Amino acid sequence: MSSRRQFIKTSVLAGAGVLVGTSAFSNIFISRKPKVIIIGAGFAGLAAANYLHKKKIDFVILEARNRISGRVFSHTMDNSDGLVVELGAEWVGNSHERVQNLCNDFGLALEDNQFESDLIYTGKHAKAFEWGYTPEWEAKFEAIKANYTKLTHADKLRLDKMDWWRFLVNNGCTGLDLELRELLDSTDFGESIRHVSAFAALAEYAESSDKNEMDCKIKGGNSQLAYKIAAEIGRDKILLQHAVSKVVQTKAGVTVYCNNGKQFTGDKIICTAPTFAVKKINWQPGLPAEQVNALNELQYARINKNPLLFSERFWQRENFDLITDQTPHYFYHATKNQHNQKGVLLSYTIGDKAAVVANQTDAWRAQTVQQTLQPFFGDVQKLLLGQTNYYWGHDEYSQGAYALYGVGQWFRLRPILNRPHMHTHFAGEHLADWQGFMEGAINTGEEAGEQIS
Ligand SMILES: Cc1cc2nc3c(=O)[nH]c(=O)nc-3n(C[C@H](O)[C@H](O)[C@H](O)COP(=O)(O)OP(=O)(O)OC[C@H]3O[C@@H](n4cnc5c(N)ncnc54)[C@H](O)[C@@H]3O)c2cc1C
Repeated sequence: MSSRRQFIKTSVLAGAGVLVGTSAFSNIFISRKPKVIIIGAGFAGLAAANYLHKKKIDFVILEARNRISGRVFSHTMDNSDGLVVELGAEWVGNSHERVQNLCNDFGLALEDNQFESDLIYTGKHAKAFEWGYTPEWEAKFEAIKANYTKLTHADKLRLDKMDWWRFLVNNGCTGLDLELRELLDSTDFGESIRHVSAFAALAEYAESSDKNEMDCKIKGGNSQLAYKIAAEIGRDKILLQHAVSKVVQTKAGVTVYCNNGKQFTGDKIICTAPTFAVKKINWQPGLPAEQVNALNELQYARINKNPLLFSERFWQRENFDLITDQTPHYFYHATKNQHNQKGVLLSYTIGDKAAVVANQTDAWRAQTVQQTLQPFFGDVQKLLLGQTNYYWGHDEYSQGAYALYGVGQWFRLRPILNRPHMHTHFAGEHLADWQGFMEGAINTGEEAGEQIS
Protein backbone atom coordinates (compact mmCIF):
# COMPACT_ATOMS: atom_id res chain seq x y z
CA MET A 1 0.00 0.00 0.00
CA SER A 2 1.39 3.35 -0.95
CA SER A 3 1.29 5.77 1.91
CA ARG A 4 -0.40 9.16 1.79
CA ARG A 5 2.54 10.98 3.24
CA GLN A 6 6.08 10.29 4.01
CA PHE A 7 6.72 10.79 7.66
CA ILE A 8 9.80 12.89 8.10
CA LYS A 9 11.64 12.01 11.25
CA THR A 10 13.09 15.25 12.49
CA SER A 11 16.16 15.36 14.61
CA VAL A 12 14.81 16.50 17.92
CA LEU A 13 17.43 15.50 20.38
CA ALA A 14 18.70 19.02 21.00
CA GLY A 15 17.82 19.78 24.57
CA ALA A 16 17.19 16.16 25.45
CA GLY A 17 20.57 15.79 27.08
CA VAL A 18 23.14 17.72 29.05
CA LEU A 19 26.46 18.40 27.40
CA VAL A 20 29.27 18.35 29.94
CA GLY A 21 31.34 21.37 28.97
CA THR A 22 34.90 20.62 30.09
CA SER A 23 37.53 19.79 27.49
CA ALA A 24 38.13 16.38 29.02
CA PHE A 25 34.47 15.45 28.65
CA SER A 26 33.53 17.57 25.67
CA ASN A 27 32.56 14.56 23.59
CA ILE A 28 30.56 12.87 26.29
CA PHE A 29 26.86 13.37 26.01
CA ILE A 30 25.23 12.41 29.27
CA SER A 31 21.73 11.34 28.57
CA ARG A 32 18.99 12.93 30.66
CA LYS A 33 15.48 11.86 29.87
CA PRO A 34 13.30 14.86 29.16
CA LYS A 35 10.25 15.75 31.15
CA VAL A 36 7.43 16.01 28.65
CA ILE A 37 4.25 18.04 28.90
CA ILE A 38 1.50 16.59 26.74
CA ILE A 39 -1.35 18.89 25.76
CA GLY A 40 -4.58 16.92 25.32
CA ALA A 41 -5.86 13.56 26.55
CA GLY A 42 -7.44 12.42 23.30
CA PHE A 43 -6.13 9.32 21.52
CA ALA A 44 -3.00 11.14 20.26
CA GLY A 45 -2.07 12.45 23.70
CA LEU A 46 -2.79 9.15 25.42
CA ALA A 47 -0.85 7.20 22.79
CA ALA A 48 2.12 9.55 23.23
CA ALA A 49 1.91 9.11 26.99
CA ASN A 50 1.70 5.34 26.67
CA TYR A 51 4.81 5.38 24.50
CA LEU A 52 6.75 7.57 26.97
CA HIS A 53 5.51 5.47 29.90
CA LYS A 54 7.03 2.38 28.29
CA LYS A 55 10.30 4.27 27.77
CA LYS A 56 10.20 5.40 31.42
CA ILE A 57 10.19 9.05 30.39
CA ASP A 58 8.48 11.39 32.81
CA PHE A 59 5.40 13.22 31.54
CA VAL A 60 2.21 14.93 32.54
CA ILE A 61 -0.96 15.33 30.42
CA LEU A 62 -2.87 18.59 30.62
CA GLU A 63 -6.43 18.25 29.40
CA ALA A 64 -8.82 21.17 29.03
CA ARG A 65 -12.07 19.19 29.32
CA ASN A 66 -13.43 17.50 32.42
CA ARG A 67 -13.08 14.12 30.70
CA ILE A 68 -10.44 12.21 28.76
CA SER A 69 -10.80 10.72 25.24
CA GLY A 70 -11.41 13.92 23.26
CA ARG A 71 -13.26 13.33 20.02
CA VAL A 72 -13.85 9.71 21.00
CA PHE A 73 -16.91 10.21 23.15
CA SER A 74 -18.97 7.20 24.22
CA HIS A 75 -22.27 8.14 25.79
CA THR A 76 -24.82 6.07 27.73
CA MET A 77 -28.21 6.80 26.16
CA ASP A 78 -30.30 4.81 28.52
CA ASN A 79 -29.06 4.25 32.05
CA SER A 80 -31.58 1.51 32.88
CA ASP A 81 -30.41 -0.64 29.97
CA GLY A 82 -26.89 0.69 29.58
CA LEU A 83 -27.17 1.34 25.87
CA VAL A 84 -24.00 3.07 24.73
CA VAL A 85 -23.63 5.18 21.59
CA GLU A 86 -20.76 7.15 20.11
CA LEU A 87 -21.07 10.93 19.89
CA GLY A 88 -17.64 11.05 18.23
CA ALA A 89 -15.66 8.30 16.48
CA GLU A 90 -17.73 5.21 15.63
CA TRP A 91 -15.79 2.74 13.49
CA VAL A 92 -12.49 0.95 13.89
CA GLY A 93 -11.26 -0.04 10.46
CA ASN A 94 -9.94 -3.43 9.45
CA SER A 95 -6.73 -1.69 8.34
CA HIS A 96 -6.30 0.14 11.63
CA GLU A 97 -3.60 -2.00 13.14
CA ARG A 98 -2.53 0.12 16.09
CA VAL A 99 -6.08 0.49 17.44
CA GLN A 100 -6.58 -3.23 17.03
CA ASN A 101 -3.25 -4.10 18.66
CA LEU A 102 -3.91 -1.80 21.60
CA CYS A 103 -7.37 -3.34 22.06
CA ASN A 104 -5.71 -6.72 22.03
CA ASP A 105 -3.06 -5.62 24.57
CA PHE A 106 -5.73 -4.29 26.93
CA GLY A 107 -8.17 -7.17 26.50
CA LEU A 108 -10.83 -5.10 24.75
CA ALA A 109 -13.11 -6.92 22.32
CA LEU A 110 -13.81 -5.53 18.87
CA GLU A 111 -17.30 -6.25 17.60
CA ASP A 112 -18.48 -6.34 14.01
CA ASN A 113 -20.01 -2.98 13.14
CA GLN A 114 -20.54 -3.32 9.40
CA PHE A 115 -23.80 -2.24 7.81
CA GLU A 116 -25.79 -2.82 4.64
CA SER A 117 -27.31 0.40 3.39
CA ASP A 118 -30.87 1.21 2.38
CA LEU A 119 -31.46 4.33 0.31
CA ILE A 120 -34.17 6.98 0.35
CA TYR A 121 -33.77 9.11 -2.74
CA THR A 122 -36.24 11.37 -4.55
CA GLY A 123 -39.06 10.10 -2.36
CA LYS A 124 -38.42 6.41 -2.97
CA HIS A 125 -37.07 3.76 -0.64
CA ALA A 126 -34.71 1.09 -1.98
CA LYS A 127 -33.62 -1.71 0.31
CA ALA A 128 -30.01 -2.81 0.69
CA PHE A 129 -28.69 -4.55 -2.46
CA GLU A 130 -31.59 -3.15 -4.50
CA TRP A 131 -29.75 -0.01 -5.50
CA GLY A 132 -26.25 0.95 -6.48
CA TYR A 133 -23.96 2.42 -9.07
CA THR A 134 -24.22 1.52 -12.72
CA PRO A 135 -21.94 -1.43 -13.66
CA GLU A 136 -20.01 0.94 -15.95
CA TRP A 137 -19.17 3.37 -13.16
CA GLU A 138 -18.49 0.53 -10.73
CA ALA A 139 -15.90 -0.89 -13.14
CA LYS A 140 -14.41 2.51 -13.85
CA PHE A 141 -14.03 3.32 -10.16
CA GLU A 142 -12.35 -0.02 -9.46
CA ALA A 143 -9.88 0.77 -12.25
CA ILE A 144 -9.21 4.25 -10.81
CA LYS A 145 -8.49 2.77 -7.39
CA ALA A 146 -6.28 0.04 -8.86
CA ASN A 147 -4.27 2.71 -10.66
CA TYR A 148 -3.59 4.60 -7.43
CA THR A 149 -0.41 2.69 -6.61
CA LYS A 150 1.03 3.69 -10.01
CA LEU A 151 0.61 7.42 -9.46
CA THR A 152 3.81 9.43 -9.34
CA HIS A 153 4.34 12.20 -6.83
CA ALA A 154 3.68 14.71 -9.61
CA ASP A 155 0.37 12.96 -10.39
CA LYS A 156 -0.60 13.22 -6.73
CA LEU A 157 0.25 16.92 -6.60
CA ARG A 158 -1.91 17.48 -9.67
CA LEU A 159 -4.77 15.57 -8.09
CA ASP A 160 -4.53 17.65 -4.93
CA LYS A 161 -5.18 20.74 -7.06
CA MET A 162 -8.77 19.75 -7.79
CA ASP A 163 -11.79 18.79 -5.72
CA TRP A 164 -13.22 15.26 -5.54
CA TRP A 165 -16.49 16.19 -7.24
CA ARG A 166 -14.60 17.64 -10.22
CA PHE A 167 -12.33 14.59 -10.38
CA LEU A 168 -15.38 12.30 -10.52
CA VAL A 169 -17.01 14.40 -13.23
CA ASN A 170 -13.78 14.44 -15.25
CA ASN A 171 -13.70 10.68 -15.01
CA GLY A 172 -17.15 10.24 -16.47
CA CYS A 173 -19.22 9.99 -13.29
CA THR A 174 -22.62 11.50 -14.09
CA GLY A 175 -26.31 11.41 -13.20
CA LEU A 176 -27.34 9.09 -10.40
CA ASP A 177 -23.79 7.77 -9.99
CA LEU A 178 -22.57 11.28 -9.21
CA GLU A 179 -25.50 12.02 -6.90
CA LEU A 180 -24.86 8.83 -4.97
CA ARG A 181 -21.17 9.52 -4.68
CA GLU A 182 -21.93 13.02 -3.38
CA LEU A 183 -24.30 11.61 -0.75
CA LEU A 184 -22.01 8.80 0.35
CA ASP A 185 -18.59 10.43 0.07
CA SER A 186 -19.71 13.68 1.68
CA THR A 187 -20.83 11.58 4.64
CA ASP A 188 -17.26 10.26 4.92
CA PHE A 189 -15.62 13.68 4.74
CA GLY A 190 -18.23 15.65 6.68
CA GLU A 191 -18.69 18.35 4.03
CA SER A 192 -19.68 18.38 0.36
CA ILE A 193 -17.12 16.65 -1.84
CA ARG A 194 -16.90 19.90 -3.77
CA HIS A 195 -14.69 21.05 -0.86
CA VAL A 196 -12.50 17.95 -0.58
CA SER A 197 -9.06 17.47 -2.15
CA ALA A 198 -9.29 14.83 -4.87
CA PHE A 199 -5.99 13.43 -3.71
CA ALA A 200 -7.12 13.10 -0.08
CA ALA A 201 -10.32 11.38 -1.23
CA LEU A 202 -8.73 9.01 -3.71
CA ALA A 203 -6.01 8.07 -1.22
CA GLU A 204 -8.66 7.25 1.35
CA TYR A 205 -10.74 5.09 -0.97
CA ALA A 206 -7.77 3.36 -2.55
CA GLU A 207 -6.06 2.57 0.75
CA SER A 208 -9.11 1.59 2.79
CA SER A 209 -10.79 -1.71 3.54
CA ASP A 210 -13.79 -2.82 1.44
CA LYS A 211 -16.23 -1.14 3.81
CA ASN A 212 -14.07 1.97 3.88
CA GLU A 213 -12.87 1.25 7.42
CA MET A 214 -16.46 1.11 8.76
CA ASP A 215 -15.76 -2.34 10.14
CA CYS A 216 -15.89 -2.71 13.90
CA LYS A 217 -16.26 -1.00 17.23
CA ILE A 218 -14.91 -1.51 20.74
CA LYS A 219 -17.31 -3.45 22.95
CA GLY A 220 -18.71 -1.15 25.62
CA GLY A 221 -17.79 1.96 23.63
CA ASN A 222 -14.67 3.28 21.94
CA SER A 223 -13.76 5.40 24.98
CA GLN A 224 -12.91 2.13 26.74
CA LEU A 225 -9.53 2.27 25.01
CA ALA A 226 -8.85 5.71 26.49
CA TYR A 227 -9.80 4.47 29.97
CA LYS A 228 -7.48 1.47 29.61
CA ILE A 229 -4.52 3.58 28.46
CA ALA A 230 -5.19 6.06 31.28
CA ALA A 231 -5.17 3.23 33.84
CA GLU A 232 -1.94 1.89 32.36
CA ILE A 233 -0.07 5.21 32.46
CA GLY A 234 -1.64 6.28 35.77
CA ARG A 235 -4.72 8.46 36.11
CA ASP A 236 -2.74 10.81 38.36
CA LYS A 237 -0.62 11.72 35.31
CA ILE A 238 -3.67 13.27 33.62
CA LEU A 239 -4.84 16.62 34.91
CA LEU A 240 -8.38 17.47 33.79
CA GLN A 241 -9.70 21.01 33.47
CA HIS A 242 -6.17 22.21 32.78
CA ALA A 243 -6.64 24.24 29.59
CA VAL A 244 -3.27 25.42 28.36
CA SER A 245 -3.39 29.14 27.60
CA LYS A 246 0.28 30.09 27.25
CA VAL A 247 3.51 28.33 26.30
CA VAL A 248 6.88 29.97 26.90
CA GLN A 249 9.90 28.29 25.36
CA THR A 250 13.52 29.21 25.95
CA LYS A 251 16.79 27.43 25.25
CA ALA A 252 16.57 25.94 28.73
CA GLY A 253 13.13 24.42 28.36
CA VAL A 254 9.42 25.14 28.46
CA THR A 255 6.90 26.64 30.86
CA VAL A 256 3.26 25.94 30.26
CA TYR A 257 0.51 28.06 31.80
CA CYS A 258 -3.08 26.90 32.32
CA ASN A 259 -6.31 28.86 32.57
CA ASN A 260 -6.71 27.73 36.17
CA GLY A 261 -3.51 29.52 37.21
CA LYS A 262 -1.31 26.40 37.37
CA GLN A 263 2.03 26.30 35.57
CA PHE A 264 4.37 23.48 34.62
CA THR A 265 7.97 23.34 33.50
CA GLY A 266 9.61 20.71 31.36
CA ASP A 267 11.99 19.99 28.50
CA LYS A 268 9.57 19.12 25.72
CA ILE A 269 5.94 19.51 24.73
CA ILE A 270 3.76 17.24 22.66
CA CYS A 271 0.79 19.32 21.57
CA THR A 272 -2.14 17.21 20.34
CA ALA A 273 -4.76 19.95 20.32
CA PRO A 274 -6.81 20.43 17.13
CA THR A 275 -5.68 23.40 15.06
CA PHE A 276 -8.37 25.78 16.36
CA ALA A 277 -7.15 25.17 19.90
CA VAL A 278 -3.45 25.39 18.91
CA LYS A 279 -4.13 28.83 17.48
CA LYS A 280 -5.73 30.02 20.72
CA ILE A 281 -2.64 29.28 22.80
CA ASN A 282 -0.35 32.25 23.40
CA TRP A 283 2.95 30.93 22.04
CA GLN A 284 6.10 32.73 23.17
CA PRO A 285 8.00 33.06 20.95
CA GLY A 286 5.15 33.10 18.47
CA LEU A 287 4.57 30.38 15.92
CA PRO A 288 6.18 31.14 12.54
CA ALA A 289 3.91 33.11 10.20
CA GLU A 290 3.71 30.20 7.77
CA GLN A 291 2.42 27.92 10.52
CA VAL A 292 -0.11 30.52 11.67
CA ASN A 293 -1.35 30.86 8.08
CA ALA A 294 -1.70 27.10 7.83
CA LEU A 295 -3.66 27.00 11.12
CA ASN A 296 -5.93 29.68 9.73
CA GLU A 297 -6.44 27.87 6.44
CA LEU A 298 -7.32 24.36 7.52
CA GLN A 299 -11.03 23.80 8.04
CA TYR A 300 -12.72 21.04 10.04
CA ALA A 301 -15.82 19.16 8.92
CA ARG A 302 -19.16 20.02 10.52
CA ILE A 303 -20.84 16.87 11.81
CA ASN A 304 -23.94 16.62 13.99
CA LYS A 305 -24.83 13.39 15.77
CA ASN A 306 -28.43 12.95 16.87
CA PRO A 307 -28.99 9.54 18.52
CA LEU A 308 -32.69 8.70 18.88
CA LEU A 309 -33.77 6.08 21.42
CA PHE A 310 -36.74 4.00 20.25
CA SER A 311 -38.82 1.50 22.22
CA GLU A 312 -38.34 -1.05 19.46
CA ARG A 313 -35.97 -1.61 16.56
CA PHE A 314 -38.46 -0.92 13.80
CA TRP A 315 -35.65 -1.00 11.24
CA GLN A 316 -35.57 -4.77 11.85
CA ARG A 317 -32.03 -5.50 10.68
CA GLU A 318 -29.20 -5.24 13.22
CA ASN A 319 -26.86 -4.16 10.40
CA PHE A 320 -29.22 -1.44 9.20
CA ASP A 321 -28.10 1.90 7.91
CA LEU A 322 -29.76 4.27 5.50
CA ILE A 323 -28.55 7.09 3.31
CA THR A 324 -31.10 9.74 2.38
CA ASP A 325 -31.23 12.89 0.30
CA GLN A 326 -33.26 14.53 3.07
CA THR A 327 -32.38 16.66 6.09
CA PRO A 328 -31.52 13.86 8.58
CA HIS A 329 -29.05 12.71 5.90
CA TYR A 330 -27.66 9.38 7.16
CA PHE A 331 -29.01 6.97 9.74
CA TYR A 332 -27.28 4.00 11.30
CA HIS A 333 -28.20 1.54 14.00
CA ALA A 334 -25.99 2.78 16.83
CA THR A 335 -26.75 -0.08 19.26
CA LYS A 336 -25.80 -2.99 17.05
CA ASN A 337 -24.59 -5.94 19.23
CA GLN A 338 -26.28 -4.45 22.31
CA HIS A 339 -29.09 -6.89 22.84
CA ASN A 340 -32.26 -5.17 23.90
CA GLN A 341 -35.74 -4.49 22.63
CA LYS A 342 -34.99 -0.81 22.63
CA GLY A 343 -32.52 0.53 20.15
CA VAL A 344 -30.87 3.72 18.98
CA LEU A 345 -31.03 4.97 15.44
CA LEU A 346 -28.59 7.81 14.95
CA SER A 347 -29.10 10.61 12.48
CA TYR A 348 -25.69 11.76 11.20
CA THR A 349 -25.67 15.04 9.37
CA ILE A 350 -22.81 16.87 7.73
CA GLY A 351 -21.91 20.34 6.47
CA ASP A 352 -24.79 22.81 6.15
CA LYS A 353 -27.34 20.15 7.08
CA ALA A 354 -25.48 19.56 10.35
CA ALA A 355 -25.49 23.26 11.17
CA VAL A 356 -29.23 23.46 10.52
CA VAL A 357 -30.17 20.34 12.51
CA ALA A 358 -27.92 21.37 15.43
CA ASN A 359 -29.72 24.68 15.93
CA GLN A 360 -33.25 23.24 16.16
CA THR A 361 -35.25 21.83 19.05
CA ASP A 362 -35.63 18.14 19.90
CA ALA A 363 -39.26 18.38 18.78
CA TRP A 364 -38.20 19.74 15.37
CA ARG A 365 -35.61 16.97 14.97
CA ALA A 366 -38.17 14.30 15.92
CA GLN A 367 -40.64 15.74 13.42
CA THR A 368 -38.02 15.86 10.64
CA VAL A 369 -37.00 12.26 11.26
CA GLN A 370 -40.68 11.29 11.23
CA GLN A 371 -41.19 13.09 7.91
CA THR A 372 -38.30 11.20 6.32
CA LEU A 373 -39.05 7.74 7.73
CA GLN A 374 -42.84 7.66 8.13
CA PRO A 375 -43.69 6.90 4.46
CA PHE A 376 -41.57 3.75 4.60
CA PHE A 377 -41.43 2.72 8.27
CA GLY A 378 -44.77 4.00 9.63
CA ASP A 379 -45.32 6.24 12.62
CA VAL A 380 -41.88 6.03 14.24
CA GLN A 381 -42.41 9.11 16.40
CA LYS A 382 -44.74 7.20 18.70
CA LEU A 383 -41.87 4.81 19.45
CA LEU A 384 -39.42 7.59 20.30
CA LEU A 385 -38.37 7.53 23.97
CA GLY A 386 -35.72 10.24 23.93
CA GLN A 387 -32.80 11.75 22.10
CA THR A 388 -29.62 13.66 22.57
CA ASN A 389 -27.63 15.83 20.20
CA TYR A 390 -23.98 16.75 19.79
CA TYR A 391 -22.77 19.21 17.18
CA TRP A 392 -19.02 19.16 16.65
CA GLY A 393 -19.14 22.43 14.74
CA HIS A 394 -19.73 24.12 18.11
CA ASP A 395 -17.21 22.08 20.06
CA GLU A 396 -15.14 24.53 22.07
CA TYR A 397 -11.79 22.93 21.24
CA SER A 398 -12.10 21.59 17.70
CA GLN A 399 -14.97 23.60 16.14
CA GLY A 400 -15.47 20.59 13.91
CA ALA A 401 -15.26 16.83 13.79
CA TYR A 402 -11.97 16.29 11.98
CA ALA A 403 -9.69 18.16 9.61
CA LEU A 404 -10.94 18.68 6.08
CA TYR A 405 -8.10 18.99 3.61
CA GLY A 406 -9.43 21.10 0.75
CA VAL A 407 -8.10 21.75 -2.72
CA GLY A 408 -4.32 22.16 -2.75
CA GLN A 409 -3.94 21.72 0.99
CA TRP A 410 -2.72 18.19 1.64
CA PHE A 411 0.85 18.52 0.44
CA ARG A 412 1.13 22.21 1.24
CA LEU A 413 -0.36 22.59 4.72
CA ARG A 414 0.21 19.30 6.46
CA PRO A 415 4.04 19.43 6.46
CA ILE A 416 3.94 23.01 7.78
CA LEU A 417 1.53 22.10 10.57
CA ASN A 418 3.70 19.12 11.44
CA ARG A 419 6.87 21.19 11.93
CA PRO A 420 8.15 21.26 15.51
CA HIS A 421 8.25 24.68 17.11
CA MET A 422 11.39 24.79 19.28
CA HIS A 423 10.80 22.11 21.98
CA THR A 424 7.21 21.46 20.86
CA HIS A 425 6.14 18.57 18.67
CA PHE A 426 2.69 18.51 17.18
CA ALA A 427 0.47 15.44 16.89
CA GLY A 428 -3.19 14.63 16.29
CA GLU A 429 -5.43 13.23 13.59
CA HIS A 430 -5.00 16.31 11.39
CA LEU A 431 -1.34 15.38 10.85
CA ALA A 432 -1.83 11.67 10.25
CA ASP A 433 -1.54 9.39 7.29
CA TRP A 434 -4.83 7.94 8.50
CA GLN A 435 -6.20 11.46 8.78
CA GLY A 436 -9.65 11.74 10.36
CA PHE A 437 -9.33 8.41 12.15
CA MET A 438 -8.51 7.20 15.67
CA GLU A 439 -5.73 5.19 14.08
CA GLY A 440 -4.15 8.37 12.74
CA ALA A 441 -4.34 10.10 16.12
CA ILE A 442 -2.58 7.13 17.75
CA ASN A 443 0.07 6.96 15.01
CA THR A 444 1.00 10.61 15.38
CA GLY A 445 1.04 10.42 19.19
CA GLU A 446 3.40 7.47 19.11
CA GLU A 447 5.56 9.12 16.46
CA ALA A 448 5.89 12.25 18.60
CA GLY A 449 6.82 10.08 21.58
CA GLU A 450 9.42 8.31 19.46
CA GLN A 451 10.91 11.59 18.30
CA ILE A 452 11.41 12.72 21.87
CA SER A 453 12.77 9.52 23.38
C1 LIG B 1 -18.42 12.92 14.64
C2 LIG B 1 -17.11 12.22 14.48
C3 LIG B 1 -17.06 11.01 13.83
C4 LIG B 1 -15.86 10.33 13.70
N1 LIG B 1 -15.86 9.08 13.17
C5 LIG B 1 -14.73 8.34 13.22
C6 LIG B 1 -14.75 6.97 12.93
O1 LIG B 1 -15.80 6.40 12.61
N2 LIG B 1 -13.59 6.27 13.00
C7 LIG B 1 -12.42 6.85 13.38
O2 LIG B 1 -11.40 6.16 13.47
N3 LIG B 1 -12.38 8.17 13.70
C8 LIG B 1 -13.50 8.91 13.64
N4 LIG B 1 -13.48 10.22 14.03
C9 LIG B 1 -12.19 10.88 14.23
C10 LIG B 1 -11.55 10.59 15.60
O3 LIG B 1 -12.46 10.84 16.62
C11 LIG B 1 -10.35 11.50 15.72
O4 LIG B 1 -9.48 11.29 14.62
C12 LIG B 1 -9.53 11.29 16.98
O5 LIG B 1 -10.32 11.00 18.10
C13 LIG B 1 -8.70 12.54 17.21
O6 LIG B 1 -7.86 12.35 18.32
P1 LIG B 1 -6.80 13.48 18.70
O7 LIG B 1 -6.12 13.00 19.91
O8 LIG B 1 -6.02 13.83 17.51
O9 LIG B 1 -7.68 14.77 19.01
P2 LIG B 1 -8.74 15.00 20.19
O10 LIG B 1 -9.48 13.76 20.46
O11 LIG B 1 -9.49 16.22 19.84
O12 LIG B 1 -7.80 15.27 21.45
C14 LIG B 1 -7.22 16.54 21.67
C15 LIG B 1 -7.47 16.90 23.13
O13 LIG B 1 -6.84 18.15 23.39
C16 LIG B 1 -7.65 18.85 24.29
N5 LIG B 1 -7.28 20.26 24.21
C17 LIG B 1 -7.53 21.14 23.22
N6 LIG B 1 -7.01 22.34 23.52
C18 LIG B 1 -6.40 22.21 24.70
C19 LIG B 1 -5.68 23.11 25.54
N7 LIG B 1 -5.49 24.39 25.20
N8 LIG B 1 -5.20 22.65 26.72
C20 LIG B 1 -5.38 21.36 27.09
N9 LIG B 1 -6.07 20.48 26.33
C21 LIG B 1 -6.56 20.90 25.16
C22 LIG B 1 -9.05 18.55 23.82
O14 LIG B 1 -10.00 18.78 24.84
C23 LIG B 1 -8.95 17.08 23.44
O15 LIG B 1 -9.32 16.24 24.51
C24 LIG B 1 -14.67 10.91 14.20
C25 LIG B 1 -14.71 12.13 14.84
C26 LIG B 1 -15.93 12.77 15.01
C27 LIG B 1 -15.96 14.06 15.79
